[in-house]
Amino acid sequence: MSQGQKMLESAQALIRKTAESMKLGEEVINRLIEPEFVHEFAFAVMMDPKNDENTSSTQATKKFKVFKGWRIQHNSALGPYKGGIRFHPETTREEVQALATLMTIKCAVAGLPFGGAKGGVAVDPKTLSESELQRLSQEYVKKIAHLIGEDIDVPAPDVNTNSKIIAWMIDEYEKIKGSKSPATFTGKPISMGGSLGRTEATGAGGVIILKALLEKLSSKFKVQSSKLTVAVQGFGNVGYHFAKLAAEAGFKVVAVSDSKGGIIKINPKSEILTSKQILNSNDQEEKVKELKNRQFKNLLDQLGQLEIRNLLLPLDIPLIAECKKAKGTLAGCYCAGGVCDLKGGQTISNEELLELPVDILVPAALENVINEKNMKKIKAKIIVEMANGPITQEAYEYLTEKGVIIVPDVLANAGGVTVSYLEWVQNKMRYYWTEEEVNEKLERMMKRAFEVIWKKSALKKIPLKQAAFEVAIERIISALQ
Ligand code: GLU
Repeated sequence: MSQGQKMLESAQALIRKTAESMKLGEEVINRLIEPEFVHEFAFAVMMDPKNDENTSSTQATKKFKVFKGWRIQHNSALGPYKGGIRFHPETTREEVQALATLMTIKCAVAGLPFGGAKGGVAVDPKTLSESELQRLSQEYVKKIAHLIGEDIDVPAPDVNTNSKIIAWMIDEYEKIKGSKSPATFTGKPISMGGSLGRTEATGAGGVIILKALLEKLSSKFKVQSSKLTVAVQGFGNVGYHFAKLAAEAGFKVVAVSDSKGGIIKINPKSEILTSKQILNSNDQEEKVKELKNRQFKNLLDQLGQLEIRNLLLPLDIPLIAECKKAKGTLAGCYCAGGVCDLKGGQTISNEELLELPVDILVPAALENVINEKNMKKIKAKIIVEMANGPITQEAYEYLTEKGVIIVPDVLANAGGVTVSYLEWVQNKMRYYWTEEEVNEKLERMMKRAFEVIWKKSALKKIPLKQAAFEVAIERIISALQ
């Protein structure tokens, strides 16, 4: 089964389970599950002329490549369809449908007057030149221009798309329509009517939700954010801003990763301390020798969580971002306390990052990364789903049963679409807020969404994810005609 199929099954199973527990009939369940429109198409993009050996340098050959694209409009009960467009080689119809379904739930959870949609192109944008990427974005818009509009369907960025790509898309859209229409897309550059705070919004919203959750938990357990360790998988727009803002909020962000792998930095002082602690029995010399030769990973297997906590240093996130920009990859960017060096740092794989004994795990990359293969090795007590669908249904059930608190994607990463909504409102009223005003509104809206879900979860003794789906479904069915 493909990753997309898996995610679609998980999303639909959760809607079904929640709707059945709410005693909804089959007809309503089908309306919640089935997408209203599935647009699937192929389009040709002109590739850059290449001077191959058989042609003279003046005789460049023109080549076209065909790509598959989708725009799936899942549900419009609460308002115009809303959702991003992703460019990814593994994108499929099922994946886009699953993501469109999650957008319907997410917009309802966040209390926005939007339905859910998603777009995608099966392409690896890293293999394209800038001008090829621009032409691909424009050709994609030619296919969806008649399907979208500020009160019909409002696209935005998603995986591998950003404000620059959105700018190309709007240019193309306005050329086709013959008029300006800034509210048709969100996530635009500020110069084209974008909102201040939109780029950081998804990460910022996630940190607001995490803090709100810890406030609730602190009445039960003694928790102090400055003591809590965090590992973030994914260093794109969402992962980077989450890591940066979490560190600023006082959390110890001890591990980050991008698609090629992750990094941690070992605190040499605690290593000595913990080595002593586990060496307090006989055969000291032998054990010291053994420990010195030992790889960090083996050390992880031997130590308790407390010692490991001391072992990992909080990383310097902005410095790591600078280092990644310069090197093109995270590997080797061991930055802590304002310096980057090669000593004491360690490259770890994405799989290892997920299994680190941290308090809070933040999958902020792609779907299904926590699954039946690694679920038993997950040690975090809280998982914040910043990616869409990062936990498979099976892993979700296993971890929930084990008592792991999972903050669902439809709440945790709703900051992005919430500021998209604020952008849309600003475009419509042609009046723009300051960054503080946007952030203040985002915080208020996220806290309000969290509060409703927390209450439902506590009252009905159900996990946060189920509570979020229930709140969303209640809102959607109240608007169904
Ligand atoms: N792509 C983002 C998401 O999955 C943002 C969508 C939007 O702003 O419309 O939530």
